[in-house]
Amino acid sequence: MTTLRAEVTEFLAAQPLKMYLGGRWTESLHGATLETRDPGTGSVIARVSAGDAADVERAVRAGAVAFAQSGWAAMTAKERGVILHRLADLIDQHQEILVEIESLDVGKPRAQAAAFDVPHAAATFRYYADLALRTQPAEPLVVSGFEARRMLVPYGVCGFIFPWNFPFLLVGWGIAPALAAGNTVVIKPAEDTPLSTLYFAKLAEQAGVPAGVINVVTGLGETAGAALARHPGLKRMSFTGSPEVGRQVAEACGRNLVPVKLELGGKGAAIVFEDVDIEAVATALVGAITLNAGQVCCTATRWLVQRKIYDPLVKLAVAALSGMRMGYGANPDTQLGPLVSEKQRARVLDYLDQGVKEGAKLLLDGGTAVVQGYEEGYYVKPALLAGGPGNVCAKEEIFGPVAYVMTFDAEQEALELVNGSAYGLANSVWSGDPERANRVAERLTAGNSWINAHNLFAHGIPYGGCNLSGCGGGVLGEDTFRDYLRAQSIARPLA
Ligand code: NAD
Repeated sequence: MTTLRAEVTEFLAAQPLKMYLGGRWTESLHGATLETRDPGTGSVIARVSAGDAADVERAVRAGAVAFAQSGWAAMTAKERGVILHRLADLIDQHQEILVEIESLDVGKPRAQAAAFDVPHAAATFRYYADLALRTQPAEPLVVSGFEARRMLVPYGVCGFIFPWNFPFLLVGWGIAPALAAGNTVVIKPAEDTPLSTLYFAKLAEQAGVPAGVINVVTGLGETAGAALARHPGLKRMSFTGSPEVGRQVAEACGRNLVPVKLELGGKGAAIVFEDVDIEAVATALVGAITLNAGQVCCTATRWLVQRKIYDPLVKLAVAALSGMRMGYGANPDTQLGPLVSEKQRARVLDYLDQGVKEGAKLLLDGGTAVVQGYEEGYYVKPALLAGGPGNVCAKEEIFGPVAYVMTFDAEQEALELVNGSAYGLANSVWSGDPERANRVAERLTAGNSWINAHNLFAHGIPYGGCNLSGCGGGVLGEDTFRDYLRAQSIARPLA
């Protein structure tokens, strides 16, 4: 369907693609494999080794050995920083290859991966490498009668399980702080999208990250993922994905008393007051709900629009959504790619059916889309629904290009509608009145409140969730780096 560059063809040629454990490229011990598909065509891209508990055992052991013996944990922040900067430079140098792989495996438009996913991941390695330089590994404690200090030391092997919507970006967001702090990592990428993580491991090897510091076990969630979550050799666990699986991972970690960070789903809202530039907001919200085909945990899925501007905003949004250019991710004019899998498409279509059955009005139909030349791809048309807050589409995470519009009159009403959600990831407030925008932003119950924008990510601004959207940390902030260092006090009585 599309011509791949030689480097990508070569990368995909050695099937089954091997896992990266202890600095070695290896098939799974039991020889199992899985298929990863191109969502834009429905065809198989590659067979990939499918690890199980035995492979997870090898990976965690390799991580433990590297923590104890590779020198990574004992290096100064500067020494580790040199390697992490080299890794970031290699990501930049291989950006076009990574963009091609990510677009092929996830279905996202190449332009999106090039503008955000890949460069932001590289920048995350630089950010945490530099933050480590500014963190004192030991701090004197002024306590009468003692000579004392507090040390900050890495934990050991940290497990990471990632979802399929931003595979490369999330690896960067997840592991960069852990590595910069001196830990070693075991990564389990999503079975639908393992390719860019494997390519990343090649770059890490090239950058001089010591063997065993980064380990990648590809495989299914219920086998490799579950084995990783319950492994007693982990010192920390980070899970990004659905609340349902997050609960299972947290339970497994709890049994081993392994601290766990959960970055889970969302049902982001946008509160739009009548004093905005209606056209600009309609464009921004349409952009948000179609970014990555709506498969974005924090995106604006519920639009709460003040009554006076409801009709014009909806009219503009319907026109913009209807005009989106849907197509294959590699085509330069594609604005909206396919969903990641047939399973995800079925989930989105099912939600649309349920929502309508429960009384939602379809302002824009949505449904299966057929893209000429790509008839077997997993495309869906954008949809816009309207109705009350009790509808399933207003409450649950759909994870597709489907937005739900509601009206409100008073500020308090909008706040109650948003805070009534079981989730708590991210919301936005749109208003020409900065005082009102700030007041509302502060009163929203979620990890992130954005003003006159949605989907804002910057290094130094923590991004995380509460309630069903997660707990135990977040990413992108200084606190995230600190999460990967444990405190140890050293004291001597001065008698
Ligand atoms: P998912 O929970 O189905 O899977 C996520 C990962 O968990 C995959 O690697 C999967 O293989 C693994 N897994 C599945 N079953 C497992 C088990 N029993 N034990 C251990 N691991 C298991 O999620 P998904 O469908 O891949 O991703 C979509 C979800 O991720 C959405 O809810 C989305 O909102 C969320 N998400 C959250 C963030 C965030 O930062 N908060 C970012 C991206 C995605």
